[in-house]
Amino acid sequence: MLKKRYLLTPGPTPVPPESLLAMAKPIIHHRTKEFRAILAEATEGLKYVYQTKSDVLIFASSGTGAMESAVCNLLSKGDKVIAVSGGKFGERWGEICEVYGVNARIIDVEWGKAVDPAVIENELEKDSEIKAVFTTLCETSTGVRTDIKALAEITKGHQAVLVVDAISAVGAEGLKTDEWGVDVVVAGSQKGLMIPPGLAFVSLSEKAYKLTGASDLPKYYFDIKKAKKSIEKGDTPYTPAVNLVVGLVEALRLIKDEGIENVISRHRLLAEATREAVKALGLELLAPESPSCVVTAVKLPEAIDGVELVKKLRSKYDVWAAGGQADLKGKIIRIAHLGYMNCFDTIVGISALEMTLREMGYKFELGAGVKKAEEILAG
Ligand SMILES: *Cc1c(COP(=O)(O)O)cnc(C)c1O
Repeated sequence: MLKKRYLLTPGPTPVPPESLLAMAKPIIHHRTKEFRAILAEATEGLKYVYQTKSDVLIFASSGTGAMESAVCNLLSKGDKVIAVSGGKFGERWGEICEVYGVNARIIDVEWGKAVDPAVIENELEKDSEIKAVFTTLCETSTGVRTDIKALAEITKGHQAVLVVDAISAVGAEGLKTDEWGVDVVVAGSQKGLMIPPGLAFVSLSEKAYKLTGASDLPKYYFDIKKAKKSIEKGDTPYTPAVNLVVGLVEALRLIKDEGIENVISRHRLLAEATREAVKALGLELLAPESPSCVVTAVKLPEAIDGVELVKKLRSKYDVWAAGGQADLKGKIIRIAHLGYMNCFDTIVGISALEMTLREMGYKFELGAGVKKAEEILAG
């Protein structure tokens, strides 16, 4: 059959034509009035999506660069922190802390479950020296959503800052940075912000920014103080990823036109339709209690090899879903509803899943998932 690609992975995500066309234009020099206006619009747009008055700093890296910047700019060697780990990305906080000699107490949460805020509160009560709590808004490896509002409520009363990996969640999941009091929010370009990989973002509250003055960990490119001083003058310390910023402005315009609340409701609706559809196929969710609206992780029956399923979806239908990572390899499939997607992307995903499961011998009523999804999406 004619190959037509449907990218339903939780990063990278499809890029809207508005951004693609803008990025295809000839490059301009970054030390110009023209680029400064573009950078200013990007920064304003990011503040709107983040729902913050603080500057959102832009680095030329994948999202992990901004995670690293949060660790090496806020902390000093031997500082005590908490890192919540309930999946592949939560683990990353612990790994970065280890590399920098930060003393991280890892809170292990069962994959598929969200951290209980009471656990964090208890840890902070026990040890007043804890400087930061590292967590993940949407744990993309499991599809779990963390209650960041509740965590922020807790850290507000302590010296610890709340650092949130919202790489997959910004522009998809509800996140009120200032209103909730979230100190540091990290994001990336290739997920809810709908452009190719290559940009990382970080915002800091005043409480978090104060920590940068005392930090003794090594940093050069990812120096937040330097980046902040530059952006206050409408500039970046080094050559920015010019064309990605150009593409970002277009994507942010789309978000602004739709309205951030509507963008989030759309993600919520697509996620709900996906969950109900797979349940109608007799499948179970990995994270039924705290599902995110970024990606849905679906448990597969014993007889279905998840690696094979993902491969077949790609080779036969060019539908790109993600499989499971680490212990979940072969056991789940993850379907994203992230970024430049609407109801028909969700229908395509469910339909391709049904046709492939049938081919693999799984017994169910063909069309049951699509029917359920349509009922929900049609309202
Ligand atoms: C994608 C993702 C990352 C990693 O981002 P890179 O851009 O690959 O560095 C980190 N955390 C979460 C939650 C993600 O979804």
